[in-house]
Amino acid sequence: MIPSKPVRVRFAPSPTGFLHVGGLRTALYNYLFAKHHHGTFILRIEDTDQSRRVEGAVENLIASLDWAGVHYDEGPHKEASHGPYVQSQRLEIYRNHTEQLIERGQAYYCFCTPERLEQVRQKQIAMKVAPAYDRHCRDLPKLETSDRLKAGERHVVRMKVPFGGETTFDDIIRGHVTIAHKILDDQVLLKSDGFPTYHLAVVVDDHLMEITHVIRGEEWLSSTPKHILLYQYFGWEAPRYAHLPLLLNSDKTKLSKRQGDVAVEDYRSKGYLKEAIVNFVAFLGWNPGDERELFTMEELIKEFSLERVGKSGAVFNTEKLDWLNAQYLRKKSDHEISLMLKEELRNSMFSEKNYSDEYLENIVRAMRERVSFVKDFLEKSPYFFSAPKEYDPGVVKKRWNAEAGGRMKRLAEEFAQLQNTKKEDFEAALERTAEAMKINRGELIHPLRLAVSGTGAGPGLYDLLYIIGKDETIQRIMSATEQLK
Ligand code: GLU
Repeated sequence: MIPSKPVRVRFAPSPTGFLHVGGLRTALYNYLFAKHHHGTFILRIEDTDQSRRVEGAVENLIASLDWAGVHYDEGPHKEASHGPYVQSQRLEIYRNHTEQLIERGQAYYCFCTPERLEQVRQKQIAMKVAPAYDRHCRDLPKLETSDRLKAGERHVVRMKVPFGGETTFDDIIRGHVTIAHKILDDQVLLKSDGFPTYHLAVVVDDHLMEITHVIRGEEWLSSTPKHILLYQYFGWEAPRYAHLPLLLNSDKTKLSKRQGDVAVEDYRSKGYLKEAIVNFVAFLGWNPGDERELFTMEELIKEFSLERVGKSGAVFNTEKLDWLNAQYLRKKSDHEISLMLKEELRNSMFSEKNYSDEYLENIVRAMRERVSFVKDFLEKSPYFFSAPKEYDPGVVKKRWNAEAGGRMKRLAEEFAQLQNTKKEDFEAALERTAEAMKINRGELIHPLRLAVSGTGAGPGLYDLLYIIGKDETIQRIMSATEQLK
């Protein structure tokens, strides 16, 4: 599909605290679509529900988008000709547009109290009909309306939905969608606090901001006919719509906090790389149509199309995310990873120590194929950062027999003679010792690993010795022979 007008799309979150992974997907798809078509990506803050306002939420949101590399062209802090981009700064615009609808008889004042609305609702529930406004104020005499307004009576403004007929539109993802007007409510457009509802603000802003494609979550599909009716009332052309499939937990229920993290910042603080998150989120509903799984942002921009977004729910599979993280971590150079490791160490129990860049790069080289996250370096190989304080009891039982202490001392003496301490030198020294003692090399290798690392598994033993160095190796052997007597 080649759009006829310059593409303008928007991500329009309500700032309720943090960026949900579903929100990141919506933002990402809008961004990819815009960049693919050399269009404009707008960030609009939909903060018309004042009761849900959270301090700092907007900055938080922008920080998460920035981190992920989803950069907007117009929006808060990037004012352009279509601003302001925060709905609470556009109240006048919504009020003017509401008045236009009222003048044309397409909207009306409603004075029903919350108590009355509740009674109506209860009655409808008892009669087993779907709760909806009973349109009590739809045809109030003009004079009565103006008197009540003059008297300052509390009111809202509602849109007049036609009694009969239906609205049909072509969704880029869902195809032909038809919704009968009889199931639509006379939607509130302007609330009693003077703020617009989402439905009014979204239509007015999408029009004034010249949005060409509305790409958003499936939960808004059923509201779209109301929006299209409003476009018709205003005499405007509606944008194209693309409703993205739901995000599901692995048990196919709607993705929720109860089954795991949903905030982008949670993933970030758990040490996920942005490349992995972006690649993962891109695949929540979209796929390239072949076997490829690894995509950089540039490749996504090149390949992305809404036609390749599926209708069915996208399952959030954290194993896949972990796998992607390992892939992206492995693509980084030893040096890049060592910088991340340095940062990780700074925030860890090993923060007071100072490790040289060379030391850290050596660790990265030895461990990089064994980790999926930077924090794994600390969790899987803490012995690079401090001598073992405990020894794995299972390994002790299996590998540390009555002779082990004596053998280790003998080995330490051999190591002490070493002039060169490359891994080959440690290896040769161990072989010499085994030969001299007429024992199998394994009789030295296993207790040695236990002595220097406290465990029975890890990177190559001689790499480990070379990295921690001769003195530290000897010291660890001596303290193991003491503690494991
Ligand atoms: N403010 C809505 C939300 O929070 C935006 C829906 C839309 O994109 O139209 O999801």
